[in-house]
Amino acid sequence: MHWDIPRSHPRYESLVVREKLVEAFIDGIVVPQGLIAHGRGEAFDYILGERSHPFALVAEETTVASMLLARKPVISVNGNYAALAAREIVELAKLTGALVEVNLFYRTEERVAKIARLLEREGAQNVLGVGCEKAQIEGLESPRGIVCRDGIYTADFILVAIEDGDRTQALRKAGKMVAAIDLNPFSRTAQTAHITIVDEARRATKNMIEIALKLGEAKRSKLEEIVKNYDNRKVLAEAFKTIMMRLSEATEKGVIMEIP
Ligand code: ATP
Repeated sequence: MHWDIPRSHPRYESLVVREKLVEAFIDGIVVPQGLIAHGRGEAFDYILGERSHPFALVAEETTVASMLLARKPVISVNGNYAALAAREIVELAKLTGALVEVNLFYRTEERVAKIARLLEREGAQNVLGVGCEKAQIEGLESPRGIVCRDGIYTADFILVAIEDGDRTQALRKAGKMVAAIDLNPFSRTAQTAHITIVDEARRATKNMIEIALKLGEAKRSKLEEIVKNYDNRKVLAEAFKTIMMRLSEATEKGVIMEIP
């Protein structure tokens, strides 16, 4: 930590997370563009009240059910997601039987290895990304489209977080089911994914761990029913409605917080 954030600071959590990302940037895990993306996410989280809404929980439950049903589910991890939630990613992968693959927009082998090591320190085994047989996702020019043949390339279900729209679209075109954690429901990622989780990445992953603990023993038919009843348009519409409601409340009141 570069400076002591007083616990009493009203935005303590958010400042700690920022520091975490700055440290991950200095360690070569997060790229500068990732810091900018984080700011964009924070803005949406602020508007959404920094909590997991029911529309996010429904998407999270469907993602876990889909992962449990999938032939080969993969959690795709980039620098920001690893910096924010390495421990939770590893736990979720264990509970759902998903593989973990480091997959980067700004790819260097060195950064892939650093992120894989970070995940391994949190208990991950066989993290894909380094040393695997490579394959190319169509529609993404190299090196953005490089994935592991035994991982994302042959997966049927992929969870991405804090991801760019091109990649989500390319994965979908490649015939994968895609769930995306993205706080901005306007983003191309949010609009393209089959399941859009409009929630903060670490909070969403923690929620999915809780859900996986509950659904782990569920019958296949119950999981199939959850997936069948899911409507991503409705979930996105609810996210937009919540943003609108929070903004219209603020428009009416002007002052929305107690200033001592
Ligand atoms: P797109 O290409 O999908 O239209 P974009 O150009 O914003 O979106 P990126 O910058 O690659 O693409 O995506 C980062 C996305 O992740 C942004 O939509 C941002 O709101 C979101 N985001 C950033 N931090 C978090 C976080 N901690 N949790 C969830 N989402 C986040």
